[in-house]
Amino acid sequence: IQQILLNERPEGLPSPDTFKTVSVELPAPAEGEVLLQPLYFSVDPYMRGRMNDARSYIPPFKVQEPIESGGVATVVESKDARFSAGDLVMPGGGKNFFPWATGILFSGDHLRKIDSSIPPTYYLGVLGMPGLTAYFGLMDIGKPKSGETVVISGAAGAVGLVAGQIAKLQGCRVVGIAGGEEKVKLLTSDFNFDAAINYKGNTHLGTAVAAACPNGVDIYFDNVGGDISDAVMEHLNFFARIPVCGQIALYNSTDVPMGPRIQPTLIKFSVLMQGFTIGNYAHRYMEGMQQLGEWIRAGKIKYTETVIEGFDQLPTALLGLFSGQNSGKMIVKV
Ligand code: NDP
Repeated sequence: IQQILLNERPEGLPSPDTFKTVSVELPAPAEGEVLLQPLYFSVDPYMRGRMNDARSYIPPFKVQEPIESGGVATVVESKDARFSAGDLVMPGGGKNFFPWATGILFSGDHLRKIDSSIPPTYYLGVLGMPGLTAYFGLMDIGKPKSGETVVISGAAGAVGLVAGQIAKLQGCRVVGIAGGEEKVKLLTSDFNFDAAINYKGNTHLGTAVAAACPNGVDIYFDNVGGDISDAVMEHLNFFARIPVCGQIALYNSTDVPMGPRIQPTLIKFSVLMQGFTIGNYAHRYMEGMQQLGEWIRAGKIKYTETVIEGFDQLPTALLGLFSGQNSGKMIVKV
């Protein structure tokens, strides 16, 4: 089988040298083990942070060991009575990731079966980590009220698309910010956003935000940070809420990012700004999945994904997140 390892820790944007593909032999599964063939891997922006040797909510990847991410696999051979060949599975029982490999030996204790009537990639996107992040970040921290204005950055991505549609379902005016004319068109024509701003085509983003938000900004769902967030935060209303979900604009920066100090604004307008990680809501995943499932079945939340084919494309797909190669969830089909 083949594995993709973290070859060296990157400085700034990862390069081909960051990754290394190796061939290894897998032994036959031992008692309690299951041999898996991965079907899909998720690539996610947070994985860039795991390439650094830094303290965080999740331990760093180890150099010269396989990179790991969310995924869906099929059982090839099972030495665990709970699984049989052909079952569709994901990591479970305290594990969240599969190693980047074309064949995987995994303990049955750390697998869960998934419902084969649902498209398997939904478990990596709208019904998985990104969908739940949108749901809890918006509902629990954003606390949207009908008639409010919600601005979402990274709006055409996995989290952003779901967050925007949930905000619409709460009766809000929803403005998305994304990179490129195609993406902003997608937001308003296919995903029900009231307005969308192409940050790559606007020399003065602050003016564009003001024009799209005549009543100011009540909730800013921040997926990107940096200059985009600075521009949005010039237009916050009294008692605005900011769920700080992601800062992808900063994940590859090599120096300390600087910007306007936001604290006086937070004081003047009594703004709540709260960072979170989805793991905080582990005890409520069922609630989130049920609600998202209901909205999807009722056609109230639509979804799209960008699927790249080939195990060897995993590094390219991961890097593609940082140049906006995806609309909706970025997935690699093995
Ligand atoms: P996306 O599907 O949104 O993919 C990333 C997108 O980010 C790209 O498509 C690109 O869109 C945009 N982007 C990349 N570089 C920049 C940049 N320099 N400035 C502005 N936009 C940029 O990823 P996810 O939906 O999975 O994640 C979105 C954010 O949410 C990330 O920051 C991620 O880390 C965070 N996150 C946080 C979680 C949590 O628990 N707190 C859980 C999951 C995700 P465009 O073409 O529009 O630039």
